[in-house]
Amino acid sequence: MKKFYQLTREERVRALVDSGMLTAGDAELLLADAPLPQATADHLTENQIGQFPLPMGLVRGLRVNGITHDVALVGEEPSVVAAANNGARMALAGGGVTVQVPPHRVAAEVVFADLPDTPNAVRLIRAQTADIKAAAAAAHPSIVRRGGGLQTVTVTTVDDFVKVTLVVDPQQAMGANIVNTIAERVGVLIGGWLHQQPLISILSNYSDDAVVARVDLPVEAVATRHADGATVAKLIARTSDFALLDIDRATTNNKGVMNGIAAATIALGNDYRAVEAGAHAYAARTGRYLPLTRWWVAESRLHGELAVPLKLGVVGGAVGALHRAGLAQRLAGIKTVADAQSILAALGLVQNLAAIRALVGPGIQAGHMHLQAGALAVAAGAVGAEVALLTQQLQDGDKTIARAQSLLHQMRQ
Ligand code: NDP
Repeated sequence: MKKFYQLTREERVRALVDSGMLTAGDAELLLADAPLPQATADHLTENQIGQFPLPMGLVRGLRVNGITHDVALVGEEPSVVAAANNGARMALAGGGVTVQVPPHRVAAEVVFADLPDTPNAVRLIRAQTADIKAAAAAAHPSIVRRGGGLQTVTVTTVDDFVKVTLVVDPQQAMGANIVNTIAERVGVLIGGWLHQQPLISILSNYSDDAVVARVDLPVEAVATRHADGATVAKLIARTSDFALLDIDRATTNNKGVMNGIAAATIALGNDYRAVEAGAHAYAARTGRYLPLTRWWVAESRLHGELAVPLKLGVVGGAVGALHRAGLAQRLAGIKTVADAQSILAALGLVQNLAAIRALVGPGIQAGHMHLQAGALAVAAGAVGAEVALLTQQLQDGDKTIARAQSLLHQMRQ
């Protein structure tokens, strides 16, 4: 009998229906025409049984370093795109967002455990940097030809472990595979010298090279229907002060920052887990989990700053295989990793501004639940024109699934 992974997609879906785990309707849904060509989907995942479409929304007019961008976001949470558009609009009052990007580097660690003579191993490795660089170049010659490759080799001890840190310039790629290839080759080389194989040879998703985005707005830009700009700006700054002291708030603050960044990372066909891991580890780099953003008021202006590492690629990984990722790059005018990093950092900052402004003003639920009503209408079973009608009816009163179903029932009668 064939194993699950050896079946075709149709056979897998049929097997799930035959075992009672899926209905015939589920199978039809999974096997329906889908955006990715089957061969592409097959190569992007194992045990493929279908595709999982998510909506793509657009943030318009995000001004970054003097250039205006349209940024595609892919995700399931209503209000993320609306908030980002709102934030982008407010940032225009200060001329947009300015962003500084550090050189794009990815580090790997080759770690040895239980060596008989740790100090001697450290000395030996430090003396062989040239050989390590030569092995790295031989492991991935094309990245060297492109002007990148291994830049620095550092040897440290962590308790009784020996750690060799390899910092690699992956050029326009995110670099995980490039760096892992180099790390494994270097690991074998050093393992030969030490007569012991490394414990691990792998990239790190940690980096303290942050992309830094800043805005500087007249306080009037954040005025709401109920409060003037100076009042709202002060409340935004105080919320930021509180986040510095309170992990409950800092975590939610950073989730909001990542709402747009993660959604844009997905749209760009990039590894959003790597970006998320890097962001949250950076937030905890001092040993305390801190907000990624800061907001303060000075001379009637609201200042905001976001610092976050963003390991992205504009080639490699799944980027070339996902045609919509190429489309999202073109929409945003992204040609280089630095472009992508600048735009995503700016997005994170303006998204955070819109979220905190809503929080200190009408509350986050007003906008959220307004948009959530659409998802509720669909979840209640509305189809076609019913969706808009039911969404409208849900605006006044409780936004619960029971009420949505009851309204739908009445509508159909
Ligand atoms: P690839 O392995 O696809 O490497 C990128 C390739 O793009 C290079 O080998 C290079 O090949 C080619 N390329 C073309 N033009 C350029 C250019 N201008 N600059 C750089 N490279 C160029 O991808 P990555 O190494 O970027 O790895 C990313 C993938 O790794 C993602 O899918 C990620 O999910 C995954 N991953 C992530 C991990 C993590 O984060 N912990 C762990 C393991 C994998 P050539 O030079 O030969 O043309």
